[in-house]
Amino acid sequence: MKKYLLLSLFIAGFINATAQSKEDVKPFTKPKLVVGIVVDQMRYDYLVRFWDRYQDGGFKRMVNEGFNCKNNHFNYIPTYTAVGHTSVYTGTTPNVHGVIGNNWYDKVADRMVYCTEDNNANSVGTTSDAGKMSPWRMESSTITDQLKLATVSKGKVIGVSVKDRGSILPAGHAADAAYWFHGSDEGVWITSDYYMKELPKWVKKFNKSNQAEKYKKVWNTLYDIDTYHQSLADKNAYEGPFKTQGAAVFPYDIPALWEKNGAFDLIKGVPFGNSLTTDFAMAAIEGEDLGQDDITDFIAISFSSSDYVGHRFGVSAVETQDMYLRLDLDIERLLNYLDDKVGQGEYTVFLTSDHAAVEVPAYLEDLKIPGGYADSKGFRSNLDTFLKETYNSEDLVKNISNGQIFLNQERLKEIGITSKEIEDAIVNEIKNYKHVAQAYTGYAMRNQTFTRGIASKLQLGYNFNRSGDVLFVWEPGYLATSSRTGTSHGTGYAYDTHAPLLFFGKGINHGSTVKRTEIPDIANTIAALLGIAFPSGSNGEPISEALQLD
Ligand code: ZN
Ligand code: ZN
Repeated sequence: MKKYLLLSLFIAGFINATAQSKEDVKPFTKPKLVVGIVVDQMRYDYLVRFWDRYQDGGFKRMVNEGFNCKNNHFNYIPTYTAVGHTSVYTGTTPNVHGVIGNNWYDKVADRMVYCTEDNNANSVGTTSDAGKMSPWRMESSTITDQLKLATVSKGKVIGVSVKDRGSILPAGHAADAAYWFHGSDEGVWITSDYYMKELPKWVKKFNKSNQAEKYKKVWNTLYDIDTYHQSLADKNAYEGPFKTQGAAVFPYDIPALWEKNGAFDLIKGVPFGNSLTTDFAMAAIEGEDLGQDDITDFIAISFSSSDYVGHRFGVSAVETQDMYLRLDLDIERLLNYLDDKVGQGEYTVFLTSDHAAVEVPAYLEDLKIPGGYADSKGFRSNLDTFLKETYNSEDLVKNISNGQIFLNQERLKEIGITSKEIEDAIVNEIKNYKHVAQAYTGYAMRNQTFTRGIASKLQLGYNFNRSGDVLFVWEPGYLATSSRTGTSHGTGYAYDTHAPLLFFGKGINHGSTVKRTEIPDIANTIAALLGIAFPSGSNGEPISEALQLD
């Protein structure tokens, strides 16, 4: 009887398990590897503008087989590199993650600080200070941190970029490693003792291979220069030459420009920097055996040369187009490598940028399109004069940076003025200054809720502890610089906020949407795909159309 009971229980259990396994549609997808790609300063329209010039295996493959979010935006101000990388990976905005610029004025330390500088860290792989870095100023967890937690650190996480911040912030707090390129006379990939005491063998081997040195070669256009119809003529008034170079025209004799333009740092500023990043990322996948087992790994690759090229030459330059045509080939090379190494359909990729960029304002001026140059020095001296006349005090402003005015709170107490009072007075004053479009007080940022437009973006960029006391923005198309060549970014206008967002590979639907998506949606989309916990401060919505989950 007893035996019979046990047997029947066993059979019942077996039937039950079989039935369950039939219905067991997993609510998650486990790619062997997630590849996060951030293309520094890439505008959405570069996908469209150069579409006919791209080959089939890079951007086009991601669009043709993957999911394209055509109306994807940054939803905060300021749109700078460190802020962008952090927002992509934390799935939130500077009000929560605390990275409010590349550099910002630290109110407690009373000095400008760099986003990833860390005096407690030491360089690994260089005798210079270039490795004294860590992500300690980033105040919420990243999707890469969440992968670490979800796999009890068994999933590997590696960051790669020629820029330190482009590697460190995406890799998160718990990464196995973040590597970046140290130029100068060394030309090596380095890290910080935040991650390790010594470079792994494969990094040492890569550094010894002189791969970087191989890019010390002439940069000419990839195709016949007469075929670059999507760009302005090579010689125009809107591009900045390298030092010792007469005009910003092809060919760029990199060996001749080498010494006066930072030696190995010059590689960062031309498309070869992206190729070198691809080489190193592939060496990392190989060296760390990424994507070789059932536990998901993550490599965060940031292509940062695109930002240097964009700054120097602008949106409509042949140089910029050529850089994207070359990056397209690098991405094709990377995808082919992943097919081979990890397996087609076994990995998931997303591609976005950290901010976009404005057309060169001098070019906009010539086309009679609104835009131009704002006078930040005049702004400062007018404000100083106003404050002196109104409060009879010369040291009320500590710092102006990233469109934020930091007041001297101690001095205000001494002379008996509230911060709110002077904030209101400053807003009232600077609204009359040339090309100032809007200004808000820190008080308003803390006490009101803005849901639309520039004010909402300022509020999402406003960090309670770190941000300034008055926030202001220039009119659309304006840069606060005296240089009439090249471009920049940082605003909340569409030209800076509209970024590509492509998903590709395992668990991804084929399709596209013009529904608005926002940068903080990315990390939560990946979290939903993997079925892991969302980053601690995340507030984005998973983009469900992109996912094959059912
Ligand atoms: Zn950037
Ligand atoms: Zn930039």
